[in-house]
Amino acid sequence: MSKTILVVAEHRDGALRQVTYEAIEAAKVSSTSRDQICLAIIGSQLDHIVTTLSDSGVEKIYVVDHEQLKYYQPEAYASALKQVIDASNPRGIIFGHTAIGRDLAPMIAASLDAGQVSDVINIGKLGEEIVYTRPIFAGKAFEQKKVESSPWVVTIRPNNITIADNKNKNGNIEKIAYNEPSSLQTKILEVVQKTSAKVDLSEAKIIIAGGRGVKSTEGFQPLEELADLLGGAVGASRGACDAGYCDYSMQIGQTGKVVTPEIYIACGISGAIQHVAGMSQSRIIIAINKDADAPIFKIADYGIVGDLFEVIPLLTEEFKNVLSN
Ligand SMILES: Cc1cc2nc3c(=O)[nH]c(=O)nc-3n(C[C@H](O)[C@H](O)[C@H](O)COP(=O)(O)OP(=O)(O)OC[C@H]3O[C@@H](n4cnc5c(N)ncnc54)[C@H](O)[C@@H]3O)c2cc1C
Repeated sequence: MSKTILVVAEHRDGALRQVTYEAIEAAKVSSTSRDQICLAIIGSQLDHIVTTLSDSGVEKIYVVDHEQLKYYQPEAYASALKQVIDASNPRGIIFGHTAIGRDLAPMIAASLDAGQVSDVINIGKLGEEIVYTRPIFAGKAFEQKKVESSPWVVTIRPNNITIADNKNKNGNIEKIAYNEPSSLQTKILEVVQKTSAKVDLSEAKIIIAGGRGVKSTEGFQPLEELADLLGGAVGASRGACDAGYCDYSMQIGQTGKVVTPEIYIACGISGAIQHVAGMSQSRIIIAINKDADAPIFKIADYGIVGDLFEVIPLLTEEFKNVLSN
């Protein structure tokens, strides 16, 4: 009999988030030939998005569509997901290690008495066994874990699992009627988007991050210009947020967002361990700092010792030239 690995989808503005495709890939790597990979999509007014999912590479798509699920609310989403779990009886459940995944996964794992591995960046095999690798001690070391419970729960860090281009399965849609929980402790009335960022920081391929060295809100302007040109996002150190130069939603680090872009350009950031915890897994790290002894240079692949207000406009000009040719 086939077994199910269930991927919990995340979507925004009518499209699946990139991390969901990465989670589907993670499910494929974690599966055996007897497994079928299914997707759970929860929300409100999902008709449009569901029509775009036929090539998402899964065997079945469970849809829970209800007005009460318009915004993420832990109890309501946990209740909807439990209904999908009852219907699909999965042997494994995979979430993105996102704000929602970090909240929902442990609730579901606890309710199922399931083992959980969080913040996975790589999935491999040790003999017949699936081994999940995750960073520990703020990225200074890695541990490998296997989960022996059934079901098991895994969350994967965005931007780490490479997606293979084989979305050739046409998933059947199964709609699940949502049973409203008898009472909800909280109700979300409205979500106000704080930043107008064009690219989501946690999924950005290129991040230009500013620290206290940026010196003011206006000081972020050259960083924004470079990010716009490269299709990237602007992030910040807590130093810059604490100084009031930018919003805390931009903070990267131990108490901010954890990011793994292809390229991370740290501008006027000293490289405190709490900042490094949130960006050390970036593929290429470029540091711009006027202090040659700044700790950020110890983890940087490329370092530029200089004033960021001189270096960034030069970089922007160079990229403009390259991109226009
Ligand atoms: C519990 C805890 C949690 C924390 N969590 C986080 C977190 O999540 N994220 C985080 O970032 N921090 C965090 N911190 C704070 C962290 O310890 C540092 O204080 C913070 O990262 C420093 O920010 P910064 O590098 O921007 O500032 P600074 O350390 O002041 O560094 C500014 C740098 O800018 C350089 N500079 C100045 N002017 C220029 C210029 N014109 N051109 C180029 N370079 C210039 C300077 O040489 C210096 O290296 C946390 C701290 C604690 C205790």
